[in-house]
Amino acid sequence: APVYEAIDLKKDYDGGQVQALRGVSFRVNAGEFVAITGPSGCGKSTLLQMLGALDKPDTGTLNYRDQSLPDLTDPPAYRAHEIGFIFQAFHLLPTYTAVENVQIPMFEGKLGTKARRDRAIELLTQVGLSHRIHHFPGKLSGGERQRVAIARSLANNPGVLLADEPTGNLDSKNAAQVLELLVKLHQEQRTTLIMVTHDMSIARMAERVLLMKDGLIVSDGNLDVEPNQL
Ligand code: ADP
Ligand code: ADP
Repeated sequence: APVYEAIDLKKDYDGGQVQALRGVSFRVNAGEFVAITGPSGCGKSTLLQMLGALDKPDTGTLNYRDQSLPDLTDPPAYRAHEIGFIFQAFHLLPTYTAVENVQIPMFEGKLGTKARRDRAIELLTQVGLSHRIHHFPGKLSGGERQRVAIARSLANNPGVLLADEPTGNLDSKNAAQVLELLVKLHQEQRTTLIMVTHDMSIARMAERVLLMKDGLIVSDGNLDVEPNQL
C-alpha cells in the first residue's frame, strides 16, 4: 500500500473566495523523496498541512497507510509518532536548550529521563550539533536551528518527514547543509521525504517533482498516467 493516497482533494478558504486546492490526486510510496513545487499561493502549504493532519480537506479522500487522515481519532499521536514536520520558521521553544527541544516529542512516550536525554544527544550528534547541545536557539545560527528542528522531528523515529520550505530562512551555505542532511536521512534510513519548495533548483534534487498551479497538480515527474486519472 502507498504511504499516502490522495484522491480529488479540495479545500476552500474564506467561504469559497479562495480555492486553495481544486482537485488534487497523487500517491506517495514508502521511501520516496518527493518535492512539491510551484509559485507562491498555488496550494503547496495547504497540501502539506493536510498530509500532516494539521488541517482537513473539504472533500476528497486522503489516506495514510489505509487510514483516513481526516477521520483520525488522535491526530496529535499521528503527528508525534508517524511523521516529523519541519517548518520554514523552525518553531523551536526559545527558553529550552537544543537538547531539551529535541526531547519534547518524547515526553509522551515510554522513555525514562536518561534514555530520553541520551536519544536527544544521539540525534543532535547525527545532525552535526554535538557541540551545541546546551545552547539556546537564540545563540544558534539559522542553519543550526533548523538542524535542531530536524533532530526534534526524528525523535520518535518517524517513517515520513514533511518539510515546508525548510531552507526558506537560510543563506545558501546553511541551506545546502540542511538539504544535504535531509537527503542523507532519506537515503540512509529510507525515510519518505516530502518537501515543499517554491525553488525549482531545490525541487530538482528530489526523485520526483509534483508541480502545482492554482490549486492543481499540473505535472508529476514520476507518473505514467495523468494526475486526474488516479
Ligand atoms: P503556497 O504554499 O503554495 O504559497 P498556500 O497553500 O499557502 O500556497 O495558499 C494557497 C492559497 O490559499 C493562497 O491563495 C493563500 O492566500 C490561501 N490561504 C492559505 N491559507 C489560508 C488561510 N488560512 N485562510 C485564507 N486563505 C488561505
Ligand atoms: P509558506 O510561505 O510556507 O507557504 P504561508 O506564509 O503561505 O506559508 O502561510 C503561513 C500560514 O499562514 C499558514 O498556516 C497558512 O495557512 C496561513 N495563510 C496563508 N495565506 C493566508 C491568507 N491569505 N489568510 C490567512 N492565512 C493565511
